[in-house]
Amino acid sequence: MKINVVKRVLEANDAVAASNRTLMSDAGVLCVNITSAPGSGKTTLLVRAIPALAEAQLASAVIVGDLQTTRDAERIGATGAPVTQINTEGGCHLSATQVTHALHGLDLAETAIVFIENVGNMVCPAGFDLGEHKRVAVLSTPEGDDKVAKYPTLFQPADAILLNKIDLAGPLDFDRRTFYDDLKAINSRSPMMELSARTGEGVDAWVDWLVAAHTQHAQTAGA
Ligand code: MG
Ligand code: ZN
Repeated sequence: MKINVVKRVLEANDAVAASNRTLMSDAGVLCVNITSAPGSGKTTLLVRAIPALAEAQLASAVIVGDLQTTRDAERIGATGAPVTQINTEGGCHLSATQVTHALHGLDLAETAIVFIENVGNMVCPAGFDLGEHKRVAVLSTPEGDDKVAKYPTLFQPADAILLNKIDLAGPLDFDRRTFYDDLKAINSRSPMMELSARTGEGVDAWVDWLVAAHTQHAQTAGA
């Protein structure tokens, strides 16, 4: 019985996610869902990328999930991009329905990329489709080089993997070999980018990936 209930919740989420995806595809909008542990740098990565995307004539909007506070929305809003903060009040992931409500508040005709900054959590956000076209998984070096093997469900479905805070890799003895070996075993199809959102190193490659993903999406959507 319990298993059936869980299944129905996920099936209902998938149906809503599919309609979110259609809504954004029809508007020519690329949706990118960013998943990671708390503190890996999701918000800073967005604050770095949004102005660079604007220079490439790509307008961003952001839906950001946290248990409490509007701190991330304030940081992201300072870039000038429209941002909607969802407070889950204890919920450890975003659901497709929450994203639907947030999308109603966005002007998709004026938007090229909708970013979803998921609740910081390496486990269940991976199981909830939100209607994104691309999923990005972030690991930062202070979290440890063993996390890809420990949390494969986060990294396996990711269309891009970012290794953030590489400026700290040396002082923290982050073993790239362990990280790369584990990643190769779990996901060898997706690009991996090393960067530091703090110093800006490698951020260009992240922005280039986003621009290319948008171009490809616009071509397949016929927009
Ligand atoms: Mg954040
Ligand atoms: Zn959860």
